[in-house]
Amino acid sequence: MKRKLAKRVLELAPSPTLAISAQAKEMKARGEDVIGFGAGEPDFETPDHIKEVGIQAIRDGKTGYTDASGIMELKEVVSEAIQKETGAEYTPESIIINCGGKHSFFNLSLAFFEPGDDVLVPAPYWVSYPPMLSLAGANPVIVPAPKEQGFKVTVDGLSAAATKRTKALVLNSPSNPTGAAYDKAELEEIARFCLENDIYIISDEIYDKLVYDGFTHTSVASLGEDVADITIYLNGVSKTYAMTGWRIGYAAGPADLINAMGKIQSHSTSNPTSMSQWAAIGALTGPQEYVEKMRMEFEKRRSIMVDGLNEIPGVSCLKPQGAFYVFPDVSGVYGASTGDGVIEGSVDFASYLLSQVKVALVPGLAFGDDHCVRLSYASSLEEITEGVRRIGEAVSMLS
Ligand code: PMP
Repeated sequence: MKRKLAKRVLELAPSPTLAISAQAKEMKARGEDVIGFGAGEPDFETPDHIKEVGIQAIRDGKTGYTDASGIMELKEVVSEAIQKETGAEYTPESIIINCGGKHSFFNLSLAFFEPGDDVLVPAPYWVSYPPMLSLAGANPVIVPAPKEQGFKVTVDGLSAAATKRTKALVLNSPSNPTGAAYDKAELEEIARFCLENDIYIISDEIYDKLVYDGFTHTSVASLGEDVADITIYLNGVSKTYAMTGWRIGYAAGPADLINAMGKIQSHSTSNPTSMSQWAAIGALTGPQEYVEKMRMEFEKRRSIMVDGLNEIPGVSCLKPQGAFYVFPDVSGVYGASTGDGVIEGSVDFASYLLSQVKVALVPGLAFGDDHCVRLSYASSLEEITEGVRRIGEAVSMLS
């Protein structure tokens, strides 16, 4: 019998960020001296006190199914955490626990969008937004947010891209891949535009605790009741608590939409892993010093990486306000010859670095901006210094 795959997967490429990390890991496993800047996760372990809560949950036999949309205890803790952050009140009925932040966005896409719906996605964007929207049948409309704009969209840009079919805007502040974060005034302007044009705001705030140089993170949901009403708030424990493998994310928003996301979840994954949910309670209610320690370490590394990159001719890097990525513009070296060929874009540049000096980073093309590449500074200071030195060396070998 001739096998035919579903149309929806035919154009779907695997996540390029995971692909690069896998390639670097494979080279490392072969004993090659690779420096990986591809990682999308903290290089810290989950703090012991959180691990203990997860272990205790297993010992206590909390190992069966839970409510498909998550345990009430965690929803209550999440509700308090969001209220503390935003001032907005979300009852447990307006909160769902999912299998990671990615899953929150996926369920939301399926529950909220259908063919014909346009969704504004500022570029550079997190790689998974457009495919998840497309899988739901929605049409991702890319709104440029280039380096010249500090990697942020303007109301003019949104206005030019919006139509009657525009149902939502995806905002990710601080951003993956750029680390750019919107301040309160900028968010207010965007929120006003969305209110005036009946556009919902999907606010992915997964990097909210990782901000630098005294930057204050503002949650979209904190901008007033009218704005909170059109906001779907996404967050999770993966980045803040170095818990990527536990797979816990959450969403808060209108109860009917959250309920619809719960229906989808109940027929797909069922509940997020039971012990992970308990561990997430441990994370959100336990000591927070570890988060600050991690944040300070990232802040130090960010400066070293940005300064080092800016010393390389043809490379220009903004100093981001948050997350753990930098997104330098490397288009200054495009057109240069490697000896074997010419660097024509971010994919060529990334593959040249990997083969020539064994540095793994992610081409900006994956995020919708071919001028740039993404480096994660979730690596040791030694690796950052050595990796940036190698990039400089590789660039100096171009002619
Ligand atoms: N949103 C953004 C912007 C991210 O970068 C990530 C992780 N790469 C997530 C959501 C999802 O995180 P997770 O599914 O691991 O909780």
